[in-house]
Amino acid sequence: MRELSVEKRFSDIDHNIEIIREKIYKAASSAGRKAEEVTLMAVTKTVDPIFINRAIENGITLIGENKVQEFMSKKPFLKLENCEAHLIGHLQTNKVKQIVSEVSMIQSLDSLKLAKEISKRSLEKGIVTPCLIEVNIGEEESKTGLGLSSLEELLAEVAQLEGVSVRGLMTIPPICDDEKELDKYFSKMHKIFVDIKSEKLDNIDMSILSMGMSADYEAAVRNGSTLVRVGSSIFGERIY
Ligand SMILES: *Cc1c(COP(=O)(O)O)cnc(C)c1O
Repeated sequence: MRELSVEKRFSDIDHNIEIIREKIYKAASSAGRKAEEVTLMAVTKTVDPIFINRAIENGITLIGENKVQEFMSKKPFLKLENCEAHLIGHLQTNKVKQIVSEVSMIQSLDSLKLAKEISKRSLEKGIVTPCLIEVNIGEEESKTGLGLSSLEELLAEVAQLEGVSVRGLMTIPPICDDEKELDKYFSKMHKIFVDIKSEKLDNIDMSILSMGMSADYEAAVRNGSTLVRVGSSIFGERIY
């Protein structure tokens, strides 16, 4: 019985990835973009390594984990030879030491304090950690991420840190019932991304715009996302 259900989940994962790739292709085409401009990240929180490895065998080259402990306990079982891992969840400064050098990017950089700690721990290990600045585009009180008014200032400060290299921006928009409202947040985010890119700030590389999850990745792709983070649409609903 158990074997059967694993097989069923494998085939669901295969099928889901195929459908999502098609939808990304269509959304990109409809916006005059190339699907190759968009990286599909598989978000693997709560997912067992056996299923993560299936997605990797199926061509997934990037996974995202939310929690340092969870990632570190799964990592020995993951086939990461041809797949990178990013941290996408909120990161506390006291966990930085453990995660630096274990993931190839931290997408949830949202304060100078955190940036300084990432830089310090990276330099101790003789590396530079690529990061995305997480922007709270809806300015929601309940959310992590940096408010828009602080973005330029943080960029200027992080540019001075030798152990951190900014590669772009990440966001989670507010939950919207209305497609138009969602487009508004994504296009606003894209505009900020393009504006900063055009400023050509020293030591700031704006090449990645990480936005779009299971419910909204097509809208994100139409609005210029270069990296979509998809969990439940690949692996099924999460069981906590
Ligand atoms: C969980 C999570 C996702 C994926 O969410 P789904 O709705 O399952 O696709 C993407 N980004 C972040 C930051 C997450 O925590």
